[in-house]
Amino acid sequence: MNVYDSGRMADVLAPLGYAPSDTAEGADMVILNTCHIREKAAEKVFSDLGRIRPFKEKKSAEGGEMILAVAGCVAQAEGEQIISRAPYVDMVLGPQTYHRLPEMVARAARGADQSRARGILDTEFPAEPKFDHLPAPKADGPTAFLSVQEGCDKFCTFCVVPYTRGAEYSRPAADILKEARGLTAGGAREITLLGQNVNAYHGDGATSGTWGLGRLVRELAEIEGLDRIRYTTSHPRDMDDDLISAHRDVPSLMPFLHLPVQSGSDKMLQAMNRGHTRDEYRHIIERLRTARPDIALSSDFIVGAPGETDADFMDTMNLVSEIEFTQAYSFKYSARPGTPAASMPGHVAEEVKSERLQILQMLLENQQTAFNKKCVGRTMDVLLTGPGRRAGQLVGRSPYLQPVHVEATPENVGNILPLFIESARPNSLGAKLTCSELETISA
Ligand code: SAH
Ligand code: SF4
Repeated sequence: MNVYDSGRMADVLAPLGYAPSDTAEGADMVILNTCHIREKAAEKVFSDLGRIRPFKEKKSAEGGEMILAVAGCVAQAEGEQIISRAPYVDMVLGPQTYHRLPEMVARAARGADQSRARGILDTEFPAEPKFDHLPAPKADGPTAFLSVQEGCDKFCTFCVVPYTRGAEYSRPAADILKEARGLTAGGAREITLLGQNVNAYHGDGATSGTWGLGRLVRELAEIEGLDRIRYTTSHPRDMDDDLISAHRDVPSLMPFLHLPVQSGSDKMLQAMNRGHTRDEYRHIIERLRTARPDIALSSDFIVGAPGETDADFMDTMNLVSEIEFTQAYSFKYSARPGTPAASMPGHVAEEVKSERLQILQMLLENQQTAFNKKCVGRTMDVLLTGPGRRAGQLVGRSPYLQPVHVEATPENVGNILPLFIESARPNSLGAKLTCSELETISA
């Protein structure tokens, strides 16, 4: 989501003459786009600000000006602190106001003449959605992100998102279809639909009524040239029948799903306010596997949330063993200020969290490696996305989102080729072009 947002910030600033730069030194503007999901986020921001400050001072000593901005969820949550602790910051803006950047830049420029005492703070949740004020994004290569939903009304007890991103909002389907057509016309072949709770999508339909994510996916699949559709991040509670059957019916919907479960213990799921049980999660997985037998599954896990005992942790381990994920993210619980879990009893000692995380990650890594090894000997359609690690190599994505490396020439970027998988590493696959492709190329 932050990658998408940063791209949109660049888009709104382009008409003012700003273009991306590789370094902060000498830049006319630096925006730190921040994430507040786990701890140390704020400290990281202050240390980055301290690193950038000398560039700003150098620039003004040379008679220029660097606008320094902090955007994103740390800005939303701790805007006032940023302005008072780092008064040299020119503007602080939340994730729902970045369409107003041009206005803020104009105000900052005016302020520069009047020796502004304080930075600009804009962390409102404006009533009108920012998407109506953003220029159409352009495709930048064969894969693209498209934000369809934002915010969250679920209030899991550990999570800051509902406070920093605000209430759930779904973009109208017509706008999404238009953006997807534009991206596809610009060369994107794979689009990942984004949202904090992407499958809670319930936007105004392009024809009538309200569309859910399943309907949206079916309509997007009609766009010529859009060969692959993905979506992330989903919540188990919103995995409805229509979306599950879209995995059966829509060939361009890729057989990979990131469906965070957080814990395998019913007690912890309840304490987290996830709104489903362990068995309900298993049942969803069963239905998904019936709809699309080869679907690869990924998840998020939190270990050591308040009240988690060894037995709860074992429930998580057992669930993981049973389901077999092909990829996953796992985190130690991090207390977020203002969230209900932060003030719950039974906080788990840091060493215990670290130990549990290590044990869980070992199991998850084994499952990922086992899945990658099972792919060896198969031929898979790979969308080649860019240069690989070594010269002469390209990297691409398998249908199951694994990075795949192959010896191939740069003009193949953007092609979807059936590649023969010949080796597996923990985090990627190695492939070669199949005989028929080599014949085509040499002919
Ligand atoms: N909406 C998604 C998750 C978005 S946040 C969902 O409901 O599943 C991304 C991930 O960050 C979460 O899945 C969770 O695993 C992790 N996370 C969120 N808050 C956290 C916290 N306080 N401590 C540790 N991990 C956290
Ligand atoms: Fe956070 Fe996801 Fe829960 Fe919303 S559903 S509160 S984003 S973890």
